[in-house]
Amino acid sequence: MPANKSDTIRKSWRAATRVVREGTHRSEWFETSEALYLNSGFVYDSAFDAEAAFSSKAPAKDQRFVYSRFGNPTNQMLEKRLAALEGAEACKVTASGMAAVFAALACQLKAGDRIVSARALFGSCHYIVTELLPRWGIESVLVDGGDLDQWKTALAKPTKAVFLETPSNPMLDLVDIKAVSKLAHKAGACVVADNVFATPMYQKPIALGADVVIYSATKHIDGQGRVLGGAVLGRQKWVDETLVPFLRHTGPTLSAFNAWVLLKGIETLPLRVEAQTRNALIIAKRLEKAREIERVYYPGLKSHPQYALARKQMKSGSTLVAFDVKGGKKAAFAFQDALQTIDISNNLGDVKSLISHPATTTHQRLPAEEKARLGIGPGSLRLSLGIEDPADLLEDIERALAAVRKAR
Ligand SMILES: *Cc1c(COP(=O)(O)O)cnc(C)c1O
Repeated sequence: MPANKSDTIRKSWRAATRVVREGTHRSEWFETSEALYLNSGFVYDSAFDAEAAFSSKAPAKDQRFVYSRFGNPTNQMLEKRLAALEGAEACKVTASGMAAVFAALACQLKAGDRIVSARALFGSCHYIVTELLPRWGIESVLVDGGDLDQWKTALAKPTKAVFLETPSNPMLDLVDIKAVSKLAHKAGACVVADNVFATPMYQKPIALGADVVIYSATKHIDGQGRVLGGAVLGRQKWVDETLVPFLRHTGPTLSAFNAWVLLKGIETLPLRVEAQTRNALIIAKRLEKAREIERVYYPGLKSHPQYALARKQMKSGSTLVAFDVKGGKKAAFAFQDALQTIDISNNLGDVKSLISHPATTTHQRLPAEEKARLGIGPGSLRLSLGIEDPADLLEDIERALAAVRKAR
């Protein structure tokens, strides 16, 4: 095995270096790019070696891969890279972001436990918290994530887990991670933060007090619309003792091929997110001035009601912008249908700019009063900015605004 780089220098690497260099484990062939180990199983030199490989008493240096459901060299490279970027002790990757959310909660909750969650959640996260967990005897309480008094009241009782997403999908509401983590820990809860919208570049939930961070790697980490993936990050002890047994025996394993694609994707994450955020700010500013637009929600603009909190806990705005078109559904549909460059799609974090109408797509199944509470109106649109030339995006927005005027 080729010698690895100096550990001291490795630890001082900055994010842009980490995303291309951390976790790389070269084989006997000294390949430049990370190798793809597309195998399900592993072989042993002897029956004795097989027995030793399955012994949990084996010292860490002798631990080896036994089956790709449990671990795989390509997946492990991605796990090391993500952990280093996040500043987390340990990481496990999963087949999708939802597998990561579900595993992070289900591995630690049992009947009789209580979970408190911010109400502004990705549609499927909302289903897990409000439908699936209660079915298994877990009490589930929702609060308005931006209201610390509601958190205080809800966390006055012993609680096992807190789940939050900030900025939230789709309306970019923020939760004060530091303040909520403090309250949660007093109640005995493990804080699980969905950091998809902020990306590892802009927000470090663990440094702010969260215990566990989850990602849909499908979004910015791939960022090029190719594969699904997810990740759970946290303390080594929690990952080894609580998360890993759940993952090993239930099998939401990431394919090594997808892990390899994500290893390539993450190398350009800082460059893409920076370019996407630059475009997002340009578009948000234009939309803010448009007479056809009722309101713009962008954490990087002073008009965001939680701008001060955004400045405090995030390094930058976001690659997404949400806004309400005047004239409701008809106007919002006219806006989308007039776009010639931006695609209508419910994915996000992609290098291609994508727009969606949450009320009729990702959040269609939410009850009307819950939509209203979350601020998802008939005219609300969520725009995920890509890396296209901003001039082309601005021209597309002008086309859409003209169509809104016509539709009224
Ligand atoms: C997309 C998304 C998820 C789910 O991830 P998948 O990879 O689609 O399973 C979870 N949380 C947020 C905030 C998301 O945007």
